[in-house]
Amino acid sequence: METVVSGIRSTGNLHLGNYFGAIKNFVKMQYEHKCYFFIADYHSLTTHPAPEDLHNHVKQVLVEYLAAGLDPEAATLYIQSDVPQVTELYLLLNMNAYKGELERCTSFKEKVRKQPDNINAGLLTYPVLMAADIIIHKATKVPVGKDQEQHLEMARTFANRFNRMYKKDFFPQPYAFNFSEELIKIPGLDGSTKMGKSENEGNAIFLADDPKVIRKKVMRALTDSGPTRKNQQRPQEIKNLFLLMKAVSEPETYSFFDQAYNDCSIRYGDMKKQIAEDIIKFNAPIRERILEISSDDSYLKKVADMGKEKAIDSASKTIKEVRQIIGFKRF
Ligand code: AMP
Repeated sequence: METVVSGIRSTGNLHLGNYFGAIKNFVKMQYEHKCYFFIADYHSLTTHPAPEDLHNHVKQVLVEYLAAGLDPEAATLYIQSDVPQVTELYLLLNMNAYKGELERCTSFKEKVRKQPDNINAGLLTYPVLMAADIIIHKATKVPVGKDQEQHLEMARTFANRFNRMYKKDFFPQPYAFNFSEELIKIPGLDGSTKMGKSENEGNAIFLADDPKVIRKKVMRALTDSGPTRKNQQRPQEIKNLFLLMKAVSEPETYSFFDQAYNDCSIRYGDMKKQIAEDIIKFNAPIRERILEISSDDSYLKKVADMGKEKAIDSASKTIKEVRQIIGFKRF
């Protein structure tokens, strides 16, 4: 059994890509490993959210993760800002994080390019906070995509540096979690290869979308004029429809339309109707739970309190030892 940590972005509705690419695996993992899932609200401050939005965003994400199957009894599900030990470790790691290595980070360079008016120290030290998030629980596995590999390498660097500096084998090395199943990438409805919340409107289907919205979005998905030769190559937008169908429909339904494409009898209108209905069927129980949980403030409080307690329990043990190792002593 590994100790697993994963941060969850604290803004934006969850879409089908998030579900099939991440949450489905989290749900499975939580019963097989010691999992810490946290909502990264400290991280979100680099974009300066309005105070009235901060809590609402955290609540929305918490509700949707619970609705999608995260089990607060099995995993430790907590809000980052409920665990101040993280900020202490962040501060301590910052003392040995060097400007040069932080500036070389690809994600930082990208931010500098994209938002030249808001290059704050929080962005520069983002990998340090991420390292603190992970090693505060002495985690060994982090379920991340390829884009986070560099940050994870930095987390190993900071953990190693601490161990070397104090001549102690204290922090374990965190590595990417390899899911046993192949990673699924859910395509967008606008022909792009990835469903994403910040892409074109209509690209993503959210778990909270109602049936009317789902039908409208799917019926508008990009298609071509149809196959003209048997077994012909499929253009990207058609491949996308099939990938989406594979995720949400029965295998027989998928085979039926696959066959229909290959023998040129396919009607995209029928295929889209089928996909829309299958997404609606898939989303229905999650959507129902989203509505139910979001109006149950006492349940949310219970979940947040329970997560806070479990996370602080683990984090304060680490910080206590770190303080001793560094040489802080009480008078
Ligand atoms: P994001 O909401 O973009 O921060 O994504 C959170 C996580 O959801 C990512 O780290 C991926 O694991 C997963 N994810 C996001 N979009 C997709 C997608 N289109 N297909 C599969 N997984 C995705």
